[in-house]
Amino acid sequence: MSQEIRVRFAPSPTGPFHIGGARSALFNWLLARKLGGKMVLRIEDTDRKRSTPESEENIKNALKWLGLDWDEGVDVGGSYGPYRQMERLDIYKKYTDRLLAEGKAYYCYCTPEELEEERQGLLKDGKMPRYMGKSDGIPTYNYAVVIDDSLMHVTHVIRAEEHLSNTPRQLLVYDALGFEKPVFGHISLILGTDHTKMSKRHGATSLDAYRQKGYIPAGLNNFLALLGWAPSGEKEIFTMEEAIREFSLERVAKNPAVFDFKKLDWINGQHIRKMTAEAFWELAVPFMEEAGYMTGSEEGAQLEWLKRVAATAQTQVDYGAQIPEKVAMYFSDDFAFENEDAAAVLREETAPVVMKALLEELKALPELNRDTVKATFKKVQKANKLKGQQVYMPVRVALTGNQHGPELAEMIPLFGLERTEKRILQSLEKAGIAL
Ligand code: GLU
Repeated sequence: MSQEIRVRFAPSPTGPFHIGGARSALFNWLLARKLGGKMVLRIEDTDRKRSTPESEENIKNALKWLGLDWDEGVDVGGSYGPYRQMERLDIYKKYTDRLLAEGKAYYCYCTPEELEEERQGLLKDGKMPRYMGKSDGIPTYNYAVVIDDSLMHVTHVIRAEEHLSNTPRQLLVYDALGFEKPVFGHISLILGTDHTKMSKRHGATSLDAYRQKGYIPAGLNNFLALLGWAPSGEKEIFTMEEAIREFSLERVAKNPAVFDFKKLDWINGQHIRKMTAEAFWELAVPFMEEAGYMTGSEEGAQLEWLKRVAATAQTQVDYGAQIPEKVAMYFSDDFAFENEDAAAVLREETAPVVMKALLEELKALPELNRDTVKATFKKVQKANKLKGQQVYMPVRVALTGNQHGPELAEMIPLFGLERTEKRILQSLEKAGIAL
């Protein structure tokens, strides 16, 4: 008696798509994909004042970007549509008529003004505002959601803990309508690191904000999956395929999940390392353009150089917006020593000898690439009977002003001979050393 699993994500298009919403969508999606079930996307747009088509678009785009596709619902259709609540008013009316005929519902003749007055009255008395009567032809959430979930044959209602208090009301509606009940699962609250409910105070809460900062779907999905769920092993970095394989409602935790930004960065960084060179380049382009490092019209050798420069950041960044600072040195020869220690490296006795020999050798090379540059460093080190550090450190400081940074054999070919020489000479001059 295996029944097809049918889950749904039912957002209200009333504002920016929240990361909590993305997590609810993800958990439903993982369950559907794991069990070969169906994922339904229903738009709950009965709040006429706050619902907008832009918000619906934003939600759909975000889901697509995350790779959370739906089998039935708005845009794709299905057997139980329409999938937008405002297009289902006649359906709700049919059931309302039935409840009225059965004496399980009654008419409310209150005007919106009267209801508002009542609401204000409750607020003034320090009470929770709530409906004291019934509505205006547009069904309330707790009513419509039951009819929709039932008619759409939803087997598992998986949603955020915020909806827990709605569930008993919905169960009453199920009873009144004589509908079979689905399984309910509420995913725990998302808290900030201070253990209060996650809000803008802690950091961005809209998915768009993360997308704009250059977080990637693989990283966000991995992180969101861990907000309230964990695979059985120790593994924290996983692909969506692995998450599908491992997902189970039994491993969804009851205690609240903490949104740890450092962890998000780490997880996203791990997924950035795994991107193809082409995908990383695509991630980098808007940030490189914004920084003024490219216009987008580059081609040929210049484009190839930009791609190689951007690629140097792939092992260093956690999200796209960090790329410009990692490649800044390739776009300006104006830099300072990071501190006095760095400048002191250049005043060591052997430094000018190294610089002179290195520049001569580099100029004699038929081609400047990682291998030839590496070999040149070795040659200079051997010829002058020096330790590795005595060669690499002054060159690094002279080239960048810093004592740490990417591999020199990677940097020098990207600077090219002319800029390598310019940067070294400029630094020596600043440190008061003559070659
Ligand atoms: N439309 C509701 C919301 O966006 C969700 C309803 C539900 O999942 O039951 O909060």
